[in-house]
Amino acid sequence: MIRYHSTRDPRKTPVRFEDALLKGLAPDGGLYVPDGIPSLDPTNWLSADSLPELGVSVLRRWLEPEVPLSALESILHDALDFPCPLVQLSEDLFVLELFHGPTLSFKDFAARTMARLMQHFLRQRGERRIILVATSGDTGSAVADGFAGQDNIEVVLLYPLGKVSDVQERQLIVRRPGVRALAVRGSFDDCQRMVKEAFVDRELAHLPLSSANSINIGRLLPQSLYYLWAVRQLAQRGLDPNQVNFCVPSGNLGNLTGGVLAALMGQPVHRFLAAHNANHFFPDFLAGKVEAYEFHPTIATVSNAMDVGSPSNFERLLHLLGPERMRAWFWGTTVSDEATLERMRETHRTYGYLACPHTAVGLEALARYRAQTGDRTPLITLACAHPAKFPDAVSSALGIAVPKEEALETLWQRETQVTTVEPSLQALRQVLLS
Ligand SMILES: *Cc1c(COP(=O)(O)O)cnc(C)c1O
Repeated sequence: MIRYHSTRDPRKTPVRFEDALLKGLAPDGGLYVPDGIPSLDPTNWLSADSLPELGVSVLRRWLEPEVPLSALESILHDALDFPCPLVQLSEDLFVLELFHGPTLSFKDFAARTMARLMQHFLRQRGERRIILVATSGDTGSAVADGFAGQDNIEVVLLYPLGKVSDVQERQLIVRRPGVRALAVRGSFDDCQRMVKEAFVDRELAHLPLSSANSINIGRLLPQSLYYLWAVRQLAQRGLDPNQVNFCVPSGNLGNLTGGVLAALMGQPVHRFLAAHNANHFFPDFLAGKVEAYEFHPTIATVSNAMDVGSPSNFERLLHLLGPERMRAWFWGTTVSDEATLERMRETHRTYGYLACPHTAVGLEALARYRAQTGDRTPLITLACAHPAKFPDAVSSALGIAVPKEEALETLWQRETQVTTVEPSLQALRQVLLS
C-alpha cells in the first residue's frame, strides 16, 4: 500500500491516502508525496479500452486496499465519463484535448475524481465536510460542479466580484445542490485571505472545513491518467509509444506533476516542456538563473488560469526528482501575451485549429523547443481549456466570434444563486454559521 509523507518531514512519518486526501496540506505546511511509486507494466495502459478502465488498472496499484476495487471502479466510471481525444495536427504533433468535461477545462478530471474519493471516505467515517475554495478561474467551477450533489460534502466558493469573465462567473453561480457561491467585493487575494483566516478562526473551529486546492495529492493521481491515455492513442495510430515528448501549459505545476507520476510509473517520456506565461519562475529555475524557490508576485496575463507567480507544486517536484534531474528532463520557456495571441493566429492559419490562450502558450513553447533543439520526437501538447471559455482572447487574436458551445449556451438558461459579501472574515463567518 502506498503511503505519503510531508515534503518537510525529515522522518518521513507515513500517513494513509485517506488522511492525505482529507487534510490536503500536511500539518507542517509541506506537501504530501508518495513514499514509493508503483512500477507498472505498460500493458496496463496500452491495452485499455477506455480512460476509466485504464484508470482502474493504474490507480488500484496506488489505492488498494484503502479503496476496494469495486468502489474504485464505480468512482472512475462515474467521474471520467467524458471523451479525451488526441487530435493530430501534423505528422509528429498532437493535441490532447482535456476540455470535454462539464466545465470545459482539464480541472474536471481531478475535481470529479477527488470529490468521489472524498465522498467514499466520508461515508465510511460518517463525517461531512465543508469545502472552501477561493477561485479566480477554472478551479472554482470544476470543484463546484465535481462536488455538487455529494451528500456528505458542501461547497462554499468565493470569487472576486467583477474580476472574472462573464462566462466564468456564470459557471460559478449556476445553482448546484450543496454549493453556495459568494461574490466578494474585493480582489482574489481578499478571497484567499478570507479562506485562510476561516481555517484558523476559533469561532469556526467546530465546523468540518476542508479544501480542494491544487496541492491536494487527490488531484494529482487522476491527472496522471490522461498522459497514459494519450500514449495509448498514439500507439493505436501505429506510433512508437516509447518515443514521446509532452508539452504542458503550466501555472501551479499540478498538471506537470501528474505527467511526472505517469513517467515514474513506467511510461518512457523523453522530455517534458513546461510552458509558462509571463510568470517566469520555473523556466528561470530550469535555465539555472535561480537556484531555489523564490516568492514572485503574480503577473496578470491573457492565459489567466496560469497566472501563478510562485508555483506551489515546485516543492513537490523538487522532492520527487531533485534539481539535476529536473533540469535534464524538463525544458521551459516563458511566453508573452503578444506571442500567445500570435500563436493562436498562426495555429488557426496553419492547422485550422482554434486553441485557447493556455493551449497557445504550449504551442508557442513547443515551436521554440523544436527550433532550438531540432528534436523531432513526436510531441503531445495538452489543450487545457475550451476556447469558448475565452471569447475575448479569441476575438482579439483572430477577429472572430468563438463558435457556440452547447455546454456554455445552456448555462444562460439555468437558475443562478449567489450572495454578495464584504471582503471580511466576519462576512464569511455569517454565511458559514447561518
Ligand atoms: C489550471 C490551469 C492551468 C495550469 O495548470 P497547473 O496545474 O496549475 O500548472 C493551465 N490551463 C488551464 C486552462 C487551467 O485551468
